[in-house]
Amino acid sequence: MTQFISKNESIISNEQLDFDKIVLAQKIINDLQNELQNYVNIGHGPFLAAIYDDKGNLISKCANSVVKDACSICHAEINAIKEAERKLGTYDLSRYNLKIYVTSEPCMMCLGAILWSGIKEIYYGVQSKDVEAITGYDEGFKPNWFEEFAKRGISACGNIEADLGKEVLKKYVRDGHVIYKPLRK
Ligand SMILES: [Zn+2]
Repeated sequence: MTQFISKNESIISNEQLDFDKIVLAQKIINDLQNELQNYVNIGHGPFLAAIYDDKGNLISKCANSVVKDACSICHAEINAIKEAERKLGTYDLSRYNLKIYVTSEPCMMCLGAILWSGIKEIYYGVQSKDVEAITGYDEGFKPNWFEEFAKRGISACGNIEADLGKEVLKKYVRDGHVIYKPLRK
């Protein structure tokens, strides 16, 4: 794992960090965090994902719609992958060299979905441990996922614009929005 210190942030990655990619990711994730409130205001959950191609074209952008769609798997990443594959007419995105940017670290389900999709690069904001501490969501168990993704040629980079992301999550909780989770006992 490599680290990159910028704006008092400690960005983590599973490969050698590329400065230009980080700067671009900071801009995109900052925009996503700022835009997320608009989605929350119309009933979405507090997570937003955007998929871009290697030329910088936006392919899809979707928020979490678990409550809105009454569907437990409608996380932002799943919605964005479905939309990208529908748009491109394929179940295999690998030849498009796509990147996914997410306001928070993908949960265990979404990591699986990203793996199956053929997306090549992941950039995310708030780390799962912080998402769990702030919201109470259970992000699942993801042993060594940075290393596992590196082995499969998928680069991952996170804790980007995380302070802003944490504020967005705290506001979601403060405003009394739904924290959905299954009853385990
Ligand atoms: Zn997820």
